[in-house]
Amino acid sequence: MFNIATDEDILGGDASDVYFQRSISGIKKKGFDYDVSAEFTVSGPLNTWLNFSGLDEVVNALEGRNVDLYAIPEGTVMNPRDSDGIPVPFLRIEGKYSEFGEMETAILGFICQSTGISTEASKVRIAAGDLPFFSFGIRRMHPAISPMIDRAAFIGGADGVSGILGAKIVGLEPLGTMPHALSLLAGDDEAWAISQMNIPKGHKKVLLIDTYMDEKFAAMKAADMFPNVDYLRLDTPGSRRGNFPALLREVRWELDLRGHSKVKLMVTGGLNAESVSQLKEAGADAFGVGTSISSARPFDFAMDIVSVRGAPLTKRGKFSGTKNVFRCPSCGRIEVKPSKTTRKTCSCGKRMEPMLKKFIEAGKEAGNYEHPKEIRERSVKEISKFGTMFNRDQ
Ligand SMILES: [Zn+2]
Repeated sequence: MFNIATDEDILGGDASDVYFQRSISGIKKKGFDYDVSAEFTVSGPLNTWLNFSGLDEVVNALEGRNVDLYAIPEGTVMNPRDSDGIPVPFLRIEGKYSEFGEMETAILGFICQSTGISTEASKVRIAAGDLPFFSFGIRRMHPAISPMIDRAAFIGGADGVSGILGAKIVGLEPLGTMPHALSLLAGDDEAWAISQMNIPKGHKKVLLIDTYMDEKFAAMKAADMFPNVDYLRLDTPGSRRGNFPALLREVRWELDLRGHSKVKLMVTGGLNAESVSQLKEAGADAFGVGTSISSARPFDFAMDIVSVRGAPLTKRGKFSGTKNVFRCPSCGRIEVKPSKTTRKTCSCGKRMEPMLKKFIEAGKEAGNYEHPKEIRERSVKEISKFGTMFNRDQ
């Protein structure tokens, strides 16, 4: 009915490029199905740090296949290259090639897209600072992946998500304000009153004010009618945004002048990290961010065999042998070393942390996978520490 792969398609290796299955059947027939190690590195973009995500689905996809999986945990902020320019392996799979070769396409798809989304969300997180921002972008992508999009945005630092399924996965109530449709059907006054009904306990009261009127006069009217409203939402259409920051400053001024300094301003519509930063400066208090996060450019991860039957071997352009990744918790230095290196001291004198953890052992999940809320908690700390540090480096 819909143009999507089912869980069975993905788990069975059918959501893949055909050449893997063809190669594997040949390899098996001719007796070349050796034990190998394969690593996943980023080939682009290289001019940015990334907040890694999508690993949960990789673990689900590989469980039950006789492999070991090592990976950098989700919500980790890393550069795609170490401090000496060596590609950072984010995942390593060990096992017979036929156990996982046909899953290459699906695994790459999980981490490439999710990491693109979580990284973009992290950049909005930095731009918004302490102010809340929400993931409102699932309508711009295929509905089948809306839970993945909202989960990645949440891990990347979004404070809430609008999608019902996404909210369920991350363990929150979905967030909504009011659609323009309500004002078109009922008129602003009625629509504002209706929208204040049925708000879940603990959720903010938001009024959308740009359907018919100039933002300044609508804001004054709405705040007079509903002085206890939490946010007035401005979703000003692109054709009316001569200078959105100036418009916000004007609205803020008029509200403050009339004793509505407690009424906050939420902005939505075509926002990205850059405009969030400008609008924050102009007095916005909350942000709904859509397409720039949900359609974020995927990271180009690639999978390459790095050892065959225990011996280092890889293709031209790649680094052979299995590796460990270390990061200094103090100065952020990253070092990729041969996997026999298990301890490393940073040039700054601090003990470096090994970043790769074991997630699957002989086809079984090793330990309990973290809940998205735990991952986000770690991720937000990573963003504030390493996001700005790595920005400076690149
Ligand atoms: Zn250091």
